[in-house]
Amino acid sequence: MSSIFAYLSAEVDWCEGNFEHSEYIAEYYNTISNLIFFIMTPFMIILNFDYMKYRPGRVRSLAFMVVFIGVSSIYFHMTLSYAGQLLDELSILWTMGLSYGCWFPMHHFPPFIKNREQFAYMVGIVMVVSTIMSFIKPVVNAYALNSVAIHLLYVIFLEVKRNTNPRARRLAGITVIWWSIAISCWIADKFFCEFCRMINFCYLHSLWHIFINLALMYLSTLIIYLDVLYEMPGSEPNFLYWPSEKSLISLPYLVIGKSHKWC
Ligand SMILES: [Zn+2]
Repeated sequence: MSSIFAYLSAEVDWCEGNFEHSEYIAEYYNTISNLIFFIMTPFMIILNFDYMKYRPGRVRSLAFMVVFIGVSSIYFHMTLSYAGQLLDELSILWTMGLSYGCWFPMHHFPPFIKNREQFAYMVGIVMVVSTIMSFIKPVVNAYALNSVAIHLLYVIFLEVKRNTNPRARRLAGITVIWWSIAISCWIADKFFCEFCRMINFCYLHSLWHIFINLALMYLSTLIIYLDVLYEMPGSEPNFLYWPSEKSLISLPYLVIGKSHKWC
């Protein structure tokens, strides 16, 4: 049995040809496109300065996990090793768990959960079970991850439906557009590789890395907006965009008017 750290020991291989541009990097473009994780994370922290003052611990934890996803993904695409595959998928799973535990709106908690602490424990148990499961059947993991993402989008949809702020609705709309583009790239790379090879464009998984980062920037802005709205009554959260709202690609962030003394 070969080592789980051995090159090409992963159960998945993406459409990009292996070792075409380097003898050390299996999928060159799928590897370097992960640099986007290291660019977006500082942007997220710097732009959301107001929110950072309110929840510094949670934002730092999320930023750490996003960088960890980037590192794991680089290792995975560089080696296509089984260990890399597990790390890549588990880092996303743990980041989702952290987001659920910290930001899932309390009014969506199951009836038997009394407070956020209990909810965080429940999410922690689910994460441990899922982690063990992914060692047993790793190939199911990617589909499970997308199912969780769909659930998250469904909850966001419910929230936006009850929210009358047109700017929040616009932000949610753009989140769905970027997420749809990202997931289309992931699916096309996975299932239509023959066609991609025919037209000599095998880089859709790299684009998935870029677009999902953009979608996450929008999604996280929406999530922290809901957090401020529900947990800081009386404040006035508003969205701004960098470099400008009219740019084709712009990064959203939250400013909080009427700031309170936070503890
Ligand atoms: Zn990837």
